[in-house]
Amino acid sequence: MAKRRQRQADTRRRQPTDSNTYRFFVAPEVLQGRVARIEDAALIHQLSTVLRLNAGDQITLLDNSGWEYVVALDEIGRGYISGAIERKTLAETEPQLKLTLYVALLRGERFEWVLQKGTELGVSAFVPVVCQRSVIDDIAEIGAAKIERWERIVREAAEQSRRAKLPKLLPAMLFDTACDHAARRSRAFVLWEGGGGSSLRSLIGSDEARPLAEEAPFSIALLSGPEGGFTESEMATAVMYRLGLASLGPRILRAETAPVAAAAAVLFMYGDLD
Ligand code: SAM
Repeated sequence: MAKRRQRQADTRRRQPTDSNTYRFFVAPEVLQGRVARIEDAALIHQLSTVLRLNAGDQITLLDNSGWEYVVALDEIGRGYISGAIERKTLAETEPQLKLTLYVALLRGERFEWVLQKGTELGVSAFVPVVCQRSVIDDIAEIGAAKIERWERIVREAAEQSRRAKLPKLLPAMLFDTACDHAARRSRAFVLWEGGGGSSLRSLIGSDEARPLAEEAPFSIALLSGPEGGFTESEMATAVMYRLGLASLGPRILRAETAPVAAAAAVLFMYGDLD
């Protein structure tokens, strides 16, 4: 009985429905003309050993351009997997709004949680920010292994949520640099629970926040603070860069909840979440 259930589970894993094939981001050179040739050892392991796909099975490959390619596998060789590109379609899952989240570095896995949930929601870019009250106060502390792990989390969340473009993961910035960078988006807001600002809803809903014809693609920046919050002097810097101070209401959200809640609210208000 248990064996039969296991076999059924394996069959399900091997044969997802056409609209629900396994999705993988690959380097553009994997897709050439009408043929796909995968030589990446980790992906080969995933396809042949973990998912146990065979010739004839379909997968969807993504080259991070917004297009998706349905590929029928035809050869599982030693060191490569090849297949025929059966269809190429423009994905309809990418949001119109270009939303960049500037997120203070957080303790433990909280920052990773923001990367994962933000990717699912439709964030276009993430910027880790070192603030005065951040647990990490030196950008050099963010090693290559951590960045690789963050990139993997973003990629897997993008594959799972059927995105066709990977959100960018920009290099970490100090708070002042992040304000300067954010101020170059069409609109930029810093999440501030300390009073003296306006609600995010009123800021986003105001005429000023509506995209002008010449502002395509329209981009929004949201900055959120660390566990201990932003300092008054950081707020003074934000004001100097003309960032809007945005409140999410009377409750204090945890440092990982605030950016995700704000991202969902903004994407909703601009029509990228239904
Ligand atoms: N300083 C606060 C304290 O200790 O009472 C808490 C900071 S909160 C945990 C972390 C970050 O989430 C803040 O810096 C802010 O960016 C954002 N945040 C949380 N609640 C918010 C709210 N109601 N309005 C705007 N931003 C909020």
